[in-house]
Amino acid sequence: MNTPRSNTPDRSEELFARATDLIPGGVNSPVRAFKSVGGAPRFIASARGATMTDVDGRTYIDYVGSWGPMILGHADPEVIEALRMALERGTSYGAPTELEIEMAEEIIDAVPSIEMVRMVNSGTEATMSAIRLARGVTGRNKIIKFEGCYHGHGDSMLVKAGSGVATLGLPDSPGVPAALARDTMTLAFNDAAALEQTFAEHSDIATVIIEPVVGNMGCVPPREGYLQQVRSITEKHNALLIFDEVMTGFRLARGGAQQLYGVSPDITTLGKIIGGGLPVGAYGGSREIMEHIAPAGPVYQAGTLSGNPLAMTAGLVTLKRLRDSSVYERLERAGAHLCQGMTEAACAAGVKTVTNRVGSMWTTFFTDEPVTDWDSSSKSRREMYGRFFHAMLEQGIYLAPSQFEAGFIGLAHTDELLDQTIAAAHKAFHVVMNHQQQAAVQM
Ligand SMILES: *Cc1c(COP(=O)(O)O)cnc(C)c1O
Repeated sequence: MNTPRSNTPDRSEELFARATDLIPGGVNSPVRAFKSVGGAPRFIASARGATMTDVDGRTYIDYVGSWGPMILGHADPEVIEALRMALERGTSYGAPTELEIEMAEEIIDAVPSIEMVRMVNSGTEATMSAIRLARGVTGRNKIIKFEGCYHGHGDSMLVKAGSGVATLGLPDSPGVPAALARDTMTLAFNDAAALEQTFAEHSDIATVIIEPVVGNMGCVPPREGYLQQVRSITEKHNALLIFDEVMTGFRLARGGAQQLYGVSPDITTLGKIIGGGLPVGAYGGSREIMEHIAPAGPVYQAGTLSGNPLAMTAGLVTLKRLRDSSVYERLERAGAHLCQGMTEAACAAGVKTVTNRVGSMWTTFFTDEPVTDWDSSSKSRREMYGRFFHAMLEQGIYLAPSQFEAGFIGLAHTDELLDQTIAAAHKAFHVVMNHQQQAAVQM
């Protein structure tokens, strides 16, 4: 995998310069721009299995997996063949198809709390719709989310914590009205007491939305019993609980985090894996709740391309392959092997790290204290991660270009590829350590 640098001009840098002139920041989604690790992003020409090849002909073992969807690997032959056949039948009809029924059946069969489901086009759309539904069903306005959790870029979700526990939110982005942000309260993840207190001090709370295993501040698992507490507190106060399983759905288990932890939310949002690499999202829940959605009920939500036949086709092939429970055993073994290797490599180089993992989702944090929430996650040494990231990239390992993202292992990551990654990590941690020592000498 250690592809030597070519002598030709770096096409990625050329393309990034061109893109920056035409597209804000040169990218169509911010984290792709490598801003938090520095340098120009690699422009990708093709991908297959566990690897991606950039426009300069360098091949990388990929642990981003399009940010989660590619659990089968890139360009999976069965997915590609099904898509090829679907293409011949047309790409969108704006009328119902049998594929949408099959997709609904597959999701309902897999996810314990879902009795009915509505397809949308992205995870953002799924969480926005789920929140509108929760507000529509309860007739209440306020929502609670957790610091470090990401639920897409909907206005109500781009809100950060005010000061103190039960304060109201402040907009996280220009363009989000302050009046709207005030209806979103942000609490610390893994702190059930703060949630209990907030419910004691505020009425009018429609819903609590949570990533049951957080991926978006790096991988942060729930403390033992925490999700059960969140469930019982929301139940006690008649607020709806939304599990945002856009990342964890079909990733941690076929039935997602709710199956793994045995906690049943009222509404679940899905995305990423269920589209098999095509744009998709979904939200579902009990029949009683879901029948509030138009045209069955009064809560409006619609989409020109929702349930698109190509996305349904790629998603269905993917989900059918994930019926086999040995898939999740393989991902667990691969995750354990890689993370043990990463920990050993860091130790051998004398770099302090904490590696969090649930199944095939993981993050190595450059910190020496446990990472359980945003406060502890944000203490990680980002500049050390940046050096590690580039030292890995140089050796043909493509990690997330940010400390605060989860890595993903897929079924195409063979033991051989994992071992190559661990070997590269030994060198990369030494690069990080040498830099620390030189910096110390210069001081
Ligand atoms: C990726 C993600 C989203 C947003 O999905 P998009 O398809 O990018 O809009 C929402 N919630 C979680 C937990 C995610 O990981």
